[in-house]
Amino acid sequence: MKKLFYLMLIILGSGMAFCSSPYTKSGRGEVNIVPKPADVTINDGFFILNQGTAIVADSGTEVNSVANYMADILRPSTGYVLDVKHEDAESNRIKLRIDKSVKGNEGVYNLVVDKNGVTISAPEPVGLFYGVQSLRQLLPVEIERKSVQEGKEWDIPFVIINDEPSFRYRGLHLDVGRHFFPPSFIKKYIDLLALHKMNVFHWHLTEDQGWRIEIKKYPKLTEVGSVRKETLVGHYGSDKYDGKPYGGFYTQDEVRDIVAYAKERFITVIPEIEMPGHSLAALASYPELGCTGGPYEVATTWGVFPDVYCAGNDQVFTFLEDVLTEVMDMFPSEYIHIGGDECPKIRWKECPKCQARIKNEGLKNEHELQSYFIRRIEKFFNAHGRQIIGWDEILEGGLAPKATVMSWRGEKGGIAAAKQHHDVIMTPGFALYFDHYQADPATQPLAIGGFTNTKTVYNYNPLPKALNEKEAGYILGAQGNVWTEYMKTPEYVEYMAYPRACALAEIDWTPGDKKNWDDFVKRMDVHKKRLKELNVNYFDGPMDAQNPKKQKKK
Ligand SMILES: [Zn+2]
Repeated sequence: MKKLFYLMLIILGSGMAFCSSPYTKSGRGEVNIVPKPADVTINDGFFILNQGTAIVADSGTEVNSVANYMADILRPSTGYVLDVKHEDAESNRIKLRIDKSVKGNEGVYNLVVDKNGVTISAPEPVGLFYGVQSLRQLLPVEIERKSVQEGKEWDIPFVIINDEPSFRYRGLHLDVGRHFFPPSFIKKYIDLLALHKMNVFHWHLTEDQGWRIEIKKYPKLTEVGSVRKETLVGHYGSDKYDGKPYGGFYTQDEVRDIVAYAKERFITVIPEIEMPGHSLAALASYPELGCTGGPYEVATTWGVFPDVYCAGNDQVFTFLEDVLTEVMDMFPSEYIHIGGDECPKIRWKECPKCQARIKNEGLKNEHELQSYFIRRIEKFFNAHGRQIIGWDEILEGGLAPKATVMSWRGEKGGIAAAKQHHDVIMTPGFALYFDHYQADPATQPLAIGGFTNTKTVYNYNPLPKALNEKEAGYILGAQGNVWTEYMKTPEYVEYMAYPRACALAEIDWTPGDKKNWDDFVKRMDVHKKRLKELNVNYFDGPMDAQNPKKQKKK
Protein backbone atom coordinates (compact mmCIF):
# COMPACT_ATOMS: atom_id res chain seq x y z
CA MET A 1 0.00 0.00 0.00
CA LYS A 2 2.75 2.40 1.01
CA LYS A 3 4.55 1.72 -2.24
CA LEU A 4 1.45 2.57 -4.24
CA PHE A 5 1.06 5.77 -2.24
CA TYR A 6 4.54 6.89 -3.22
CA LEU A 7 3.96 6.06 -6.84
CA MET A 8 0.90 8.31 -6.73
CA LEU A 9 2.90 11.07 -5.08
CA ILE A 10 5.49 10.88 -7.81
CA ILE A 11 2.91 10.93 -10.55
CA LEU A 12 0.95 13.77 -8.95
CA GLY A 13 3.97 15.73 -7.95
CA SER A 14 6.21 15.48 -10.96
CA GLY A 15 8.39 18.52 -10.89
CA MET A 16 7.73 19.16 -7.22
CA ALA A 17 10.29 18.33 -4.55
CA PHE A 18 9.37 15.87 -1.81
CA CYS A 19 12.21 16.33 0.58
CA SER A 20 11.03 13.64 2.93
CA SER A 21 10.46 11.04 0.25
CA PRO A 22 13.06 8.29 -0.19
CA TYR A 23 12.78 8.92 -3.91
CA THR A 24 14.27 12.37 -3.72
CA LYS A 25 16.33 12.76 -0.56
CA SER A 26 19.67 11.67 -1.89
CA GLY A 27 18.77 10.36 -5.29
CA ARG A 28 19.15 6.80 -4.04
CA GLY A 29 15.62 5.75 -4.94
CA GLU A 30 14.03 3.07 -2.89
CA VAL A 31 15.44 0.22 -0.84
CA ASN A 32 18.13 -1.67 -2.78
CA ILE A 33 18.99 -4.52 -0.45
CA VAL A 34 20.55 -7.67 -1.99
CA PRO A 35 19.31 -10.31 -1.32
CA LYS A 36 15.84 -8.82 -1.38
CA PRO A 37 14.15 -9.03 2.03
CA ALA A 38 10.96 -11.06 2.37
CA ASP A 39 8.86 -8.01 3.24
CA VAL A 40 9.63 -4.28 3.06
CA THR A 41 7.41 -1.28 3.79
CA ILE A 42 8.86 2.16 3.06
CA ASN A 43 7.57 5.00 5.21
CA ASP A 44 7.84 8.74 4.85
CA GLY A 45 11.06 10.25 6.16
CA PHE A 46 14.68 9.61 7.12
CA PHE A 47 16.71 8.98 10.23
CA ILE A 48 20.06 10.75 10.07
CA LEU A 49 23.02 9.02 11.68
CA ASN A 50 25.29 11.46 13.55
CA GLN A 51 28.09 11.40 16.07
CA GLY A 52 25.59 11.48 18.93
CA THR A 53 23.89 8.28 17.79
CA ALA A 54 24.24 5.52 20.38
CA ILE A 55 24.37 1.81 19.75
CA VAL A 56 22.15 0.17 22.34
CA ALA A 57 22.70 -3.58 22.62
CA ASP A 58 21.31 -6.25 24.92
CA SER A 59 24.09 -7.66 27.05
CA GLY A 60 25.47 -11.01 25.95
CA THR A 61 28.71 -11.82 24.23
CA GLU A 62 27.31 -12.60 20.81
CA VAL A 63 25.05 -9.52 20.74
CA ASN A 64 27.99 -7.42 21.80
CA SER A 65 30.07 -8.93 19.04
CA VAL A 66 27.38 -7.96 16.49
CA ALA A 67 27.23 -4.44 17.93
CA ASN A 68 31.00 -4.05 17.69
CA TYR A 69 30.98 -5.47 14.15
CA MET A 70 28.42 -2.80 13.20
CA ALA A 71 30.39 -0.02 14.90
CA ASP A 72 33.49 -1.15 12.97
CA ILE A 73 31.59 -0.86 9.68
CA LEU A 74 30.19 2.58 10.49
CA ARG A 75 33.33 4.13 11.96
CA PRO A 76 35.87 4.59 9.10
CA SER A 77 33.63 6.56 6.70
CA THR A 78 31.56 8.51 9.25
CA GLY A 79 34.42 9.14 11.64
CA TYR A 80 31.91 8.62 14.49
CA VAL A 81 33.02 6.64 17.49
CA LEU A 82 29.62 5.17 18.28
CA ASP A 83 29.58 3.86 21.84
CA VAL A 84 27.96 0.52 22.53
CA LYS A 85 25.69 0.97 25.55
CA HIS A 86 23.52 -1.42 27.47
CA GLU A 87 20.99 1.08 28.88
CA ASP A 88 18.18 2.08 26.57
CA ALA A 89 18.00 5.46 24.85
CA GLU A 90 14.68 6.82 23.64
CA SER A 91 15.93 8.49 20.53
CA ASN A 92 18.96 8.82 18.26
CA ARG A 93 19.97 5.21 18.73
CA ILE A 94 20.48 1.96 16.88
CA LYS A 95 19.03 -0.73 19.07
CA LEU A 96 19.93 -4.41 18.82
CA ARG A 97 17.38 -6.43 20.74
CA ILE A 98 16.96 -10.15 21.37
CA ASP A 99 13.23 -10.76 21.09
CA LYS A 100 12.02 -14.35 21.28
CA SER A 101 8.58 -13.31 20.03
CA VAL A 102 10.02 -12.76 16.55
CA LYS A 103 9.35 -16.10 14.89
CA GLY A 104 10.63 -17.60 11.66
CA ASN A 105 13.46 -19.53 10.01
CA GLU A 106 17.06 -19.41 11.26
CA GLY A 107 18.23 -15.83 10.79
CA VAL A 108 14.79 -14.18 11.05
CA TYR A 109 14.83 -10.50 12.07
CA ASN A 110 12.75 -7.32 12.06
CA LEU A 111 14.23 -3.94 11.25
CA VAL A 112 12.37 -0.71 11.96
CA VAL A 113 13.71 2.73 11.08
CA ASP A 114 11.69 5.69 12.39
CA LYS A 115 12.24 9.11 13.91
CA ASN A 116 13.77 7.58 17.06
CA GLY A 117 16.36 5.66 15.12
CA VAL A 118 16.82 2.03 14.23
CA THR A 119 15.54 -1.06 16.04
CA ILE A 120 16.67 -4.51 14.97
CA SER A 121 14.91 -7.37 16.75
CA ALA A 122 15.63 -11.06 16.41
CA PRO A 123 15.29 -14.19 18.53
CA GLU A 124 18.98 -15.04 17.99
CA PRO A 125 22.16 -12.99 17.46
CA VAL A 126 22.43 -14.30 13.88
CA GLY A 127 19.19 -12.46 13.04
CA LEU A 128 20.63 -9.25 14.49
CA PHE A 129 23.68 -9.76 12.27
CA TYR A 130 21.50 -10.06 9.16
CA GLY A 131 19.57 -6.99 10.29
CA VAL A 132 22.89 -5.11 10.45
CA GLN A 133 23.65 -6.20 6.86
CA SER A 134 20.31 -4.76 5.75
CA LEU A 135 20.88 -1.56 7.71
CA ARG A 136 24.27 -1.21 6.06
CA GLN A 137 22.62 -1.48 2.66
CA LEU A 138 20.03 1.18 3.60
CA LEU A 139 22.88 3.66 4.10
CA PRO A 140 24.53 5.51 1.19
CA VAL A 141 27.19 3.32 -0.48
CA GLU A 142 29.90 5.73 0.73
CA ILE A 143 29.44 4.14 4.17
CA GLU A 144 31.82 1.43 2.89
CA ARG A 145 34.72 3.87 2.43
CA LYS A 146 37.78 3.58 4.59
CA SER A 147 38.36 7.33 5.04
CA VAL A 148 36.18 9.95 6.74
CA GLN A 149 33.68 11.49 4.31
CA GLU A 150 33.39 15.07 5.60
CA GLY A 151 29.97 16.66 5.19
CA LYS A 152 28.28 13.50 3.96
CA GLU A 153 24.73 13.08 5.27
CA TRP A 154 24.16 9.53 6.52
CA ASP A 155 20.46 9.14 5.89
CA ILE A 156 18.50 5.96 6.43
CA PRO A 157 14.97 5.77 5.00
CA PHE A 158 12.10 5.00 7.37
CA VAL A 159 11.26 1.35 6.75
CA ILE A 160 9.72 -1.69 8.35
CA ILE A 161 11.44 -4.89 7.23
CA ASN A 162 10.33 -8.38 8.24
CA ASP A 163 12.82 -10.81 6.86
CA GLU A 164 13.96 -14.43 6.98
CA PRO A 165 15.84 -16.78 4.65
CA SER A 166 14.12 -19.31 2.40
CA PHE A 167 16.89 -21.92 2.68
CA ARG A 168 19.06 -22.82 5.63
CA TYR A 169 22.18 -23.67 3.58
CA ARG A 170 23.45 -20.67 1.61
CA GLY A 171 26.90 -21.44 0.34
CA LEU A 172 29.76 -20.33 -1.83
CA HIS A 173 32.74 -22.54 -2.57
CA LEU A 174 36.35 -21.73 -3.40
CA ASP A 175 38.94 -24.08 -4.89
CA VAL A 176 42.35 -23.22 -3.46
CA GLY A 177 43.92 -26.41 -4.83
CA ARG A 178 44.37 -25.33 -8.45
CA HIS A 179 45.40 -21.85 -7.35
CA PHE A 180 46.25 -20.68 -3.86
CA PHE A 181 44.82 -17.49 -2.38
CA PRO A 182 46.26 -15.77 0.71
CA PRO A 183 44.41 -15.67 4.05
CA SER A 184 43.72 -11.92 3.61
CA PHE A 185 41.74 -12.68 0.45
CA ILE A 186 39.90 -15.58 2.11
CA LYS A 187 38.76 -13.09 4.77
CA LYS A 188 37.58 -10.63 2.12
CA TYR A 189 35.70 -13.48 0.42
CA ILE A 190 34.05 -14.28 3.77
CA ASP A 191 33.19 -10.60 4.35
CA LEU A 192 31.36 -10.56 1.02
CA LEU A 193 29.43 -13.70 1.96
CA ALA A 194 28.37 -11.93 5.15
CA LEU A 195 27.21 -8.87 3.20
CA HIS A 196 24.94 -11.19 1.18
CA LYS A 197 23.63 -13.14 4.21
CA MET A 198 25.27 -16.36 3.07
CA ASN A 199 26.16 -18.79 5.86
CA VAL A 200 28.54 -21.42 4.44
CA PHE A 201 32.05 -21.11 3.01
CA HIS A 202 32.98 -24.42 1.36
CA TRP A 203 36.78 -24.48 1.34
CA HIS A 204 38.14 -26.95 -1.23
CA LEU A 205 41.57 -27.56 0.32
CA THR A 206 43.12 -30.58 -1.41
CA GLU A 207 43.57 -31.39 -5.08
CA ASP A 208 45.73 -33.25 -7.57
CA GLN A 209 47.52 -29.93 -8.18
CA GLY A 210 48.17 -29.03 -4.54
CA TRP A 211 47.60 -29.95 -0.89
CA ARG A 212 46.90 -26.67 0.90
CA ILE A 213 46.46 -27.43 4.61
CA GLU A 214 49.13 -28.13 7.20
CA ILE A 215 48.83 -31.57 8.80
CA LYS A 216 51.32 -31.93 11.67
CA LYS A 217 51.52 -35.71 11.57
CA TYR A 218 52.28 -35.78 7.82
CA PRO A 219 54.60 -32.83 7.09
CA LYS A 220 55.35 -34.01 3.55
CA LEU A 221 51.76 -33.18 2.54
CA THR A 222 52.80 -29.54 2.52
CA GLU A 223 56.57 -29.93 2.00
CA VAL A 224 56.03 -31.99 -1.15
CA GLY A 225 52.28 -31.91 -1.88
CA SER A 226 51.76 -28.15 -1.82
CA VAL A 227 54.19 -27.48 -4.68
CA ARG A 228 53.87 -28.39 -8.36
CA LYS A 229 56.92 -28.00 -10.56
CA GLU A 230 55.09 -26.00 -13.23
CA THR A 231 51.65 -25.13 -14.55
CA LEU A 232 49.85 -25.59 -17.83
CA VAL A 233 49.67 -22.46 -20.00
CA GLY A 234 46.42 -21.76 -21.85
CA HIS A 235 43.55 -24.16 -22.28
CA TYR A 236 43.53 -27.82 -21.29
CA GLY A 237 45.42 -29.83 -23.91
CA SER A 238 47.75 -26.97 -24.91
CA ASP A 239 50.78 -29.01 -23.79
CA LYS A 240 52.60 -25.78 -22.95
CA TYR A 241 53.98 -25.26 -19.45
CA ASP A 242 55.36 -22.19 -17.69
CA GLY A 243 58.36 -23.95 -16.09
CA LYS A 244 57.76 -22.12 -12.78
CA PRO A 245 57.21 -23.94 -9.48
CA TYR A 246 53.88 -22.99 -7.91
CA GLY A 247 52.81 -23.56 -4.31
CA GLY A 248 51.27 -22.37 -1.09
CA PHE A 249 49.41 -23.68 1.93
CA TYR A 250 47.61 -22.55 5.08
CA THR A 251 49.18 -23.20 8.47
CA GLN A 252 46.93 -24.57 11.20
CA ASP A 253 47.09 -21.18 12.95
CA GLU A 254 45.94 -19.42 9.78
CA VAL A 255 43.11 -21.92 9.37
CA ARG A 256 41.95 -21.42 12.96
CA ASP A 257 42.10 -17.65 12.53
CA ILE A 258 39.95 -17.85 9.38
CA VAL A 259 37.42 -20.20 11.00
CA ALA A 260 37.08 -17.79 13.96
CA TYR A 261 36.78 -14.82 11.60
CA ALA A 262 33.97 -16.59 9.74
CA LYS A 263 32.23 -17.54 12.99
CA GLU A 264 32.06 -13.88 14.04
CA ARG A 265 30.15 -13.40 10.76
CA PHE A 266 27.85 -16.38 11.41
CA ILE A 267 29.48 -18.32 8.60
CA THR A 268 30.37 -21.98 8.93
CA VAL A 269 33.52 -23.07 7.14
CA ILE A 270 33.12 -26.55 5.68
CA PRO A 271 36.50 -27.98 4.66
CA GLU A 272 36.79 -30.42 1.78
CA ILE A 273 39.43 -33.13 1.89
CA GLU A 274 39.15 -35.02 -1.39
CA MET A 275 39.03 -38.83 -1.50
CA PRO A 276 39.47 -41.34 -3.01
CA GLY A 277 40.19 -39.36 -6.23
CA HIS A 278 41.78 -35.95 -6.80
CA SER A 279 44.50 -37.09 -4.41
CA LEU A 280 47.65 -36.98 -6.53
CA ALA A 281 49.33 -34.33 -4.34
CA ALA A 282 48.90 -36.61 -1.31
CA LEU A 283 50.22 -39.62 -3.25
CA ALA A 284 53.25 -37.60 -4.40
CA SER A 285 53.94 -36.93 -0.70
CA TYR A 286 53.33 -40.52 0.50
CA PRO A 287 53.56 -42.88 -2.53
CA GLU A 288 52.75 -45.95 -0.42
CA LEU A 289 49.12 -44.74 -0.31
CA GLY A 290 48.58 -45.45 -4.03
CA CYS A 291 47.86 -48.80 -5.67
CA THR A 292 51.12 -48.90 -7.66
CA GLY A 293 53.39 -47.32 -5.04
CA GLY A 294 54.43 -44.57 -7.43
CA PRO A 295 56.51 -42.55 -7.94
CA TYR A 296 53.91 -39.80 -8.35
CA GLU A 297 54.15 -36.09 -9.13
CA VAL A 298 51.91 -33.22 -8.05
CA ALA A 299 49.76 -32.56 -11.16
CA THR A 300 50.81 -29.74 -13.47
CA THR A 301 47.74 -29.84 -15.70
CA TRP A 302 43.95 -30.05 -15.14
CA GLY A 303 41.49 -32.88 -15.45
CA VAL A 304 41.04 -36.28 -13.83
CA PHE A 305 43.97 -38.56 -13.00
CA PRO A 306 44.02 -42.38 -12.80
CA ASP A 307 46.07 -42.58 -9.58
CA VAL A 308 43.89 -42.46 -6.47
CA TYR A 309 44.10 -43.73 -2.87
CA CYS A 310 44.31 -47.55 -2.70
CA ALA A 311 41.01 -48.82 -1.27
CA GLY A 312 42.51 -52.17 -0.34
CA ASN A 313 45.29 -50.83 1.89
CA ASP A 314 44.39 -50.28 5.57
CA GLN A 315 47.33 -47.88 5.86
CA VAL A 316 45.30 -45.47 3.68
CA PHE A 317 42.47 -45.43 6.20
CA THR A 318 44.90 -44.94 9.09
CA PHE A 319 46.43 -42.01 7.19
CA LEU A 320 43.05 -40.47 6.38
CA GLU A 321 41.74 -40.89 9.93
CA ASP A 322 44.88 -39.18 11.27
CA VAL A 323 44.48 -36.34 8.76
CA LEU A 324 40.76 -35.99 9.46
CA THR A 325 41.36 -35.96 13.22
CA GLU A 326 43.52 -32.86 12.76
CA VAL A 327 40.94 -31.43 10.34
CA MET A 328 38.11 -31.93 12.87
CA ASP A 329 40.27 -30.22 15.46
CA MET A 330 40.57 -27.14 13.24
CA PHE A 331 36.98 -27.10 11.92
CA PRO A 332 34.11 -27.34 14.42
CA SER A 333 31.53 -27.63 11.58
CA GLU A 334 28.99 -30.44 11.79
CA TYR A 335 29.71 -31.25 8.14
CA ILE A 336 33.00 -32.20 6.54
CA HIS A 337 33.13 -32.57 2.73
CA ILE A 338 34.96 -35.70 1.58
CA GLY A 339 34.80 -35.11 -2.18
CA GLY A 340 34.05 -38.50 -3.69
CA ASP A 341 33.86 -37.21 -7.27
CA GLU A 342 35.68 -38.18 -10.45
CA CYS A 343 37.45 -41.28 -9.12
CA PRO A 344 38.64 -43.49 -12.01
CA LYS A 345 38.57 -47.19 -11.17
CA ILE A 346 41.40 -48.29 -13.49
CA ARG A 347 44.06 -48.73 -10.76
CA TRP A 348 41.65 -50.54 -8.43
CA LYS A 349 40.84 -53.01 -11.23
CA GLU A 350 44.52 -53.95 -11.51
CA CYS A 351 45.46 -53.80 -7.81
CA PRO A 352 45.67 -57.10 -5.88
CA LYS A 353 44.90 -55.34 -2.57
CA CYS A 354 41.81 -53.62 -3.97
CA GLN A 355 40.61 -56.86 -5.58
CA ALA A 356 41.15 -58.74 -2.31
CA ARG A 357 39.04 -56.10 -0.54
CA ILE A 358 36.24 -56.54 -3.07
CA LYS A 359 36.32 -60.30 -2.51
CA ASN A 360 36.58 -60.22 1.28
CA GLU A 361 33.85 -57.62 1.70
CA GLY A 362 31.51 -59.36 -0.77
CA LEU A 363 31.40 -56.30 -3.05
CA LYS A 364 30.11 -56.57 -6.62
CA ASN A 365 32.53 -54.24 -8.37
CA GLU A 366 34.74 -51.15 -8.10
CA HIS A 367 31.71 -48.85 -7.71
CA GLU A 368 30.79 -50.77 -4.59
CA LEU A 369 34.42 -50.52 -3.51
CA GLN A 370 34.12 -46.72 -3.72
CA SER A 371 30.92 -46.95 -1.70
CA TYR A 372 32.79 -49.12 0.87
CA PHE A 373 35.49 -46.42 1.04
CA ILE A 374 33.01 -43.61 1.67
CA ARG A 375 30.94 -45.62 4.18
CA ARG A 376 34.06 -46.47 6.16
CA ILE A 377 35.05 -42.80 6.33
CA GLU A 378 31.48 -41.82 7.19
CA LYS A 379 31.47 -44.27 10.09
CA PHE A 380 34.64 -42.66 11.41
CA PHE A 381 33.08 -39.19 11.21
CA ASN A 382 29.75 -40.26 12.73
CA ALA A 383 31.64 -41.76 15.68
CA HIS A 384 33.02 -38.25 16.25
CA GLY A 385 29.62 -36.59 15.94
CA ARG A 386 30.24 -35.30 12.40
CA GLN A 387 28.38 -35.76 9.11
CA ILE A 388 29.77 -36.08 5.61
CA ILE A 389 28.92 -34.25 2.40
CA GLY A 390 30.00 -35.74 -0.92
CA TRP A 391 29.64 -34.91 -4.60
CA ASP A 392 26.85 -36.84 -6.34
CA GLU A 393 29.16 -39.69 -7.42
CA ILE A 394 28.78 -41.03 -3.87
CA LEU A 395 25.37 -42.31 -5.02
CA GLU A 396 27.10 -44.85 -7.25
CA GLY A 397 27.42 -48.23 -5.58
CA GLY A 398 25.03 -47.14 -2.82
CA LEU A 399 24.85 -44.06 -0.63
CA ALA A 400 26.52 -44.01 2.80
CA PRO A 401 23.70 -44.09 5.40
CA LYS A 402 23.67 -40.44 6.57
CA ALA A 403 25.55 -38.68 3.76
CA THR A 404 24.44 -35.34 2.34
CA VAL A 405 24.74 -35.14 -1.44
CA MET A 406 26.03 -32.15 -3.37
CA SER A 407 24.39 -32.38 -6.79
CA TRP A 408 26.77 -30.98 -9.41
CA ARG A 409 26.16 -33.02 -12.57
CA GLY A 410 22.80 -31.33 -13.03
CA GLU A 411 19.97 -32.04 -10.62
CA LYS A 412 19.65 -35.80 -11.21
CA GLY A 413 21.84 -36.83 -8.27
CA GLY A 414 20.07 -34.41 -5.97
CA ILE A 415 16.65 -35.67 -7.00
CA ALA A 416 17.72 -39.31 -6.51
CA ALA A 417 19.19 -38.56 -3.08
CA ALA A 418 16.13 -36.59 -1.91
CA LYS A 419 13.90 -39.48 -3.01
CA GLN A 420 16.07 -41.72 -0.80
CA HIS A 421 15.47 -39.21 2.03
CA HIS A 422 19.03 -37.88 2.10
CA ASP A 423 19.80 -34.20 2.53
CA VAL A 424 20.85 -32.40 -0.65
CA ILE A 425 22.69 -29.23 -1.58
CA MET A 426 22.04 -28.09 -5.13
CA THR A 427 25.10 -26.95 -7.11
CA PRO A 428 24.18 -27.91 -10.70
CA GLY A 429 26.85 -27.00 -13.22
CA PHE A 430 24.48 -25.40 -15.71
CA ALA A 431 23.36 -22.74 -13.22
CA LEU A 432 25.82 -22.53 -10.34
CA TYR A 433 29.32 -23.08 -11.75
CA PHE A 434 30.96 -19.68 -11.65
CA ASP A 435 34.01 -20.89 -13.59
CA HIS A 436 31.85 -20.77 -16.74
CA TYR A 437 31.92 -17.79 -19.09
CA GLN A 438 29.35 -15.12 -18.24
CA ALA A 439 29.63 -13.22 -21.54
CA ASP A 440 30.94 -13.79 -25.08
CA PRO A 441 34.21 -15.74 -24.55
CA ALA A 442 35.86 -13.57 -27.23
CA THR A 443 35.53 -10.62 -24.84
CA GLN A 444 36.55 -12.48 -21.67
CA PRO A 445 39.75 -13.67 -20.03
CA LEU A 446 40.47 -17.41 -20.27
CA ALA A 447 37.91 -19.63 -18.49
CA ILE A 448 37.22 -23.33 -18.39
CA GLY A 449 34.30 -23.10 -20.84
CA GLY A 450 30.54 -23.43 -20.45
CA PHE A 451 28.22 -20.44 -20.32
CA THR A 452 26.24 -19.25 -17.30
CA ASN A 453 25.22 -15.61 -17.14
CA THR A 454 23.89 -13.94 -13.98
CA LYS A 455 20.31 -14.20 -15.25
CA THR A 456 20.62 -17.99 -15.53
CA VAL A 457 21.86 -18.09 -11.94
CA TYR A 458 19.03 -15.81 -10.83
CA ASN A 459 16.33 -17.88 -12.48
CA TYR A 460 17.52 -21.14 -10.95
CA ASN A 461 15.08 -22.72 -8.48
CA PRO A 462 16.77 -25.18 -6.08
CA LEU A 463 13.51 -27.13 -5.67
CA PRO A 464 13.14 -29.43 -8.70
CA LYS A 465 9.59 -30.06 -9.93
CA ALA A 466 10.26 -33.81 -9.83
CA LEU A 467 10.13 -33.78 -6.01
CA ASN A 468 6.97 -33.87 -3.93
CA GLU A 469 6.64 -31.57 -0.94
CA LYS A 470 8.13 -34.02 1.56
CA GLU A 471 11.09 -34.84 -0.71
CA ALA A 472 11.65 -31.13 -1.39
CA GLY A 473 12.19 -30.77 2.36
CA TYR A 474 15.51 -32.58 1.93
CA ILE A 475 16.88 -29.75 -0.21
CA LEU A 476 18.91 -27.70 2.26
CA GLY A 477 19.76 -24.96 -0.22
CA ALA A 478 22.02 -23.99 -3.10
CA GLN A 479 25.71 -23.23 -3.48
CA GLY A 480 27.85 -21.64 -6.16
CA ASN A 481 31.15 -23.29 -7.04
CA VAL A 482 34.30 -21.41 -7.98
CA TRP A 483 36.86 -23.81 -9.50
CA THR A 484 40.10 -21.97 -10.11
CA GLU A 485 42.04 -23.78 -12.85
CA TYR A 486 42.03 -20.54 -14.86
CA MET A 487 41.75 -18.05 -11.99
CA LYS A 488 45.28 -17.17 -10.96
CA THR A 489 44.57 -14.04 -8.96
CA PRO A 490 42.09 -12.83 -6.31
CA GLU A 491 40.93 -10.18 -8.78
CA TYR A 492 39.96 -12.83 -11.30
CA VAL A 493 38.14 -14.87 -8.66
CA GLU A 494 36.06 -11.78 -7.83
CA TYR A 495 35.42 -11.14 -11.50
CA MET A 496 34.00 -14.65 -11.92
CA ALA A 497 32.13 -14.80 -8.60
CA TYR A 498 30.41 -11.39 -8.75
CA PRO A 499 27.71 -10.44 -9.58
CA ARG A 500 26.72 -14.11 -9.99
CA ALA A 501 27.07 -14.68 -6.24
CA CYS A 502 24.60 -11.81 -5.66
CA ALA A 503 22.03 -13.71 -7.74
CA LEU A 504 22.87 -16.90 -5.84
CA ALA A 505 22.33 -15.12 -2.52
CA GLU A 506 18.89 -14.12 -3.70
CA ILE A 507 17.82 -17.63 -4.77
CA ASP A 508 18.85 -18.91 -1.33
CA TRP A 509 17.34 -16.09 0.71
CA THR A 510 14.40 -14.43 -1.05
CA PRO A 511 11.01 -16.18 -1.22
CA GLY A 512 10.49 -17.56 -4.74
CA ASP A 513 7.36 -15.48 -5.32
CA LYS A 514 9.24 -12.26 -4.45
CA LYS A 515 12.00 -12.84 -6.99
CA ASN A 516 11.85 -10.57 -10.01
CA TRP A 517 14.65 -10.18 -12.55
CA ASP A 518 13.91 -6.57 -13.54
CA ASP A 519 13.74 -5.54 -9.92
CA PHE A 520 17.04 -7.35 -9.24
CA VAL A 521 18.71 -5.51 -12.13
CA LYS A 522 17.51 -2.19 -10.75
CA ARG A 523 18.76 -2.93 -7.23
CA MET A 524 22.06 -4.18 -8.63
CA ASP A 525 22.68 -0.75 -10.18
CA VAL A 526 23.14 0.56 -6.64
CA HIS A 527 24.55 -2.65 -5.18
CA LYS A 528 27.37 -2.69 -7.74
CA LYS A 529 28.38 0.77 -6.54
CA ARG A 530 28.63 -0.70 -3.05
CA LEU A 531 30.78 -3.56 -4.39
CA LYS A 532 32.99 -0.98 -6.07
CA GLU A 533 33.41 0.88 -2.75
CA LEU A 534 34.41 -2.47 -1.25
CA ASN A 535 37.05 -2.82 -3.96
CA VAL A 536 35.43 -5.89 -5.50
CA ASN A 537 36.55 -6.53 -9.07
CA TYR A 538 33.12 -7.65 -10.28
CA PHE A 539 32.16 -8.28 -13.92
CA ASP A 540 30.48 -5.06 -15.02
CA GLY A 541 29.01 -6.20 -18.35
CA PRO A 542 25.38 -7.07 -19.05
CA MET A 543 24.12 -9.68 -16.60
CA ASP A 544 21.99 -11.27 -19.32
CA ALA A 545 24.71 -11.42 -22.02
CA GLN A 546 24.01 -13.98 -24.73
CA ASN A 547 26.25 -16.87 -25.65
CA PRO A 548 27.20 -16.20 -29.30
CA LYS A 549 27.85 -19.90 -29.92
CA LYS A 550 24.32 -20.78 -28.95
CA GLN A 551 22.86 -18.03 -31.14
CA LYS A 552 24.75 -19.31 -34.17
CA LYS A 553 23.39 -22.82 -33.67
CA LYS A 554 19.84 -21.48 -33.79
ZN1 LIG B 1 44.67 -50.62 -4.55
